[in-house]
Amino acid sequence: MLVLKKVKKQWRLYPIGSPKGALNHKREPEFVGNIKFSQEGDSLSIARFVADYNFKDNSTLNEKLVPPGEVTKLLRSQAVFLATPDEKVEKFLKSLNIKVRKTRVCDYCAYEGNITIVNSSYSYKYHNQLICKDCAHDTIKHELKLQGFDKKIFRNLKKTLEKTDDLEKTLSVLDPHFDPLKNRKLTLFDKTRKSKHIIPPVDMKRLKIPREFK
Ligand SMILES: [Zn+2]
Repeated sequence: MLVLKKVKKQWRLYPIGSPKGALNHKREPEFVGNIKFSQEGDSLSIARFVADYNFKDNSTLNEKLVPPGEVTKLLRSQAVFLATPDEKVEKFLKSLNIKVRKTRVCDYCAYEGNITIVNSSYSYKYHNQLICKDCAHDTIKHELKLQGFDKKIFRNLKKTLEKTDDLEKTLSVLDPHFDPLKNRKLTLFDKTRKSKHIIPPVDMKRLKIPREFK
């Protein structure tokens, strides 16, 4: 399968292999394709396509220029998933008779040159971005280290993340201005469980109280 995504104003194509088992698992693509579209009126066409076979390495040594005709062939050969909604790109794909499927991927992974297709139970919102569970956990660990907190807190924050589904809210407890009284549901530490001795209400009739006292 091919994933098309816009990362920092740049359209990228990630060939990530079989869709089977791709959900919620990070995939390293064969290469990262950088696409430059040219626009005529309302329709797009591929002006330039560079396949980067070693994305992690910043050099251009492993880059290969692919002619637009070859890119079209590639797009027609596999299922194409659009990870950034875009009407023009959708129209472009449809003009090539390519069925457009939509998906959601982790923004952090894509930025690093990988693709993690996520569903809602494996992803969180973070500063208007979508972030996978692994990247969310890494972000929490990084913040704890950065602010000098004990690693043990990680477990509690992981729980908060599951509860709130919101990484920003989860990390807000690390903020020095965090007010625990205003945010009773968020906490850095586990609340110690207290056994509750609830005294059951007793029916007055069952108590043998002399009539005059009732
Ligand atoms: Zn990720």
